[in-house]
Amino acid sequence: MESARSWFHKFQPRDKLRPSTKNKESPSMEKEDSTPLSVEEASNVTKQKVAAAKQYIENHYKEQMKNLQERKERRNLLEKKLADADVSEEDQNNLLKFLEKKETEYMRLQRHKMGADDFELLTMIGKGAFGEVRVCREKTTGHVYAMKKLKKSEMLRRGQVEHVKAERNLLAEVDSNCIVKLYCSFQDDEFLYLIMEYLPGGDMMTLLMRKDTLTEDEARFYVAETVLAIESIHKHNYIHRDIKPDNLLLDRYGHLRLSDFGLCKPLDCSTLEEKDFSGGDCFNGNSQNSERSLPPKRTQQEQLQHWQKNRRTLAYSTVGTPDYIAPEVLLKKGYGMECDWWSLGAIMFEMLVDIHLFILTILCQHVERIYQMEAAFTPEVNDELDTQNFEKFDESDNQCQSSSKPGPWRKVSQLAAFFGAFTL
Ligand code: ADP
Ligand code: MG
Repeated sequence: MESARSWFHKFQPRDKLRPSTKNKESPSMEKEDSTPLSVEEASNVTKQKVAAAKQYIENHYKEQMKNLQERKERRNLLEKKLADADVSEEDQNNLLKFLEKKETEYMRLQRHKMGADDFELLTMIGKGAFGEVRVCREKTTGHVYAMKKLKKSEMLRRGQVEHVKAERNLLAEVDSNCIVKLYCSFQDDEFLYLIMEYLPGGDMMTLLMRKDTLTEDEARFYVAETVLAIESIHKHNYIHRDIKPDNLLLDRYGHLRLSDFGLCKPLDCSTLEEKDFSGGDCFNGNSQNSERSLPPKRTQQEQLQHWQKNRRTLAYSTVGTPDYIAPEVLLKKGYGMECDWWSLGAIMFEMLVDIHLFILTILCQHVERIYQMEAAFTPEVNDELDTQNFEKFDESDNQCQSSSKPGPWRKVSQLAAFFGAFTL
């Protein structure tokens, strides 16, 4: 940490730090354009600088005292909780030591200005239009992270600056087990860096490429965890807008976390009330209907205000990945958070349906169409007169047996026979 002396040093009047080159014997204060200051002007500038330095130092120590006090309070509360809990003295001491170490580490991290040099770059695990994702190791602690590096010039050229800001803000704001964790972000002249937890289980796209389809139980598990993840960002009024398998990552234990908030959009829902959602068509329908029902004549100013209000609750840009993009996004009439659920539906389809069996055997050369496909069930046939796959009929009985009726009726009569067995 910088000492009080170095803080103070920063606020020394510039002439004292940098002696005038014009007259070494009698250093005088100068304006930026090198015109000497009058004594009165000089003393005013000095006074202002002294006041600013005083304020800065005061704030710095006030903040430090506040942090110290909060730390003490946290410690007291924890000690009280531990005393109330049924924990041995040895375990209490161990836990306190562990948390003390964590807190010290955290405070060290807060003071230290992170930079790319603090990390050893390891394997590249992702490459996109704006940069790359790499596994990296923090040099001082040895901790492993994922580093997402975005090229500033590329982001500027494509007008993506707001997107990266939204990504960083969402990651910093939403603290959920279903969302990839961001540890810190920083930048240098060329790149923006996001240091995230490393999720070593890979992404859903790779899993689907390896397994082709999932069982219903597997799909149910991943879809349920994605629902929780999407809900956790919707609760903070963000739409993700790029829900797709490569943005669903798996942690060490196989649990899913949502990542890549490069297209996420904050929606200001403050003007929407609960009833706005109950109609079913949420932002879209309501805002358009309300627009139609408003008085026809508005001043230009009113019109602008109205548009600005709606603009905040509606996203208009056509973003996303074609396979997973919701139709309303393509219609460009505005869309709301529901577009993320469409994408999840598309992912669920991809998880469950074997595209090779159902689609590629139809959309192929006509000679191969359907017939090359293996049947779902191969009947057992021992010889050319084998009838084992048919019901047995009594030759002497002319009546049609009810159990041989096709369709649901057969199931109903079987059910009636089953319950009949219980009647006396
Ligand atoms: P892009 O905007 O280029 O799609 P992503 O954030 O989706 O950037 O990262 C690209 C890929 O890098 C992901 O699909 C995933 O395979 C990998 N990846 C990203 N973040 C992590 C992470 N925290 N842990 C593990 N792999 C990651
Ligand atoms: Mg991605």
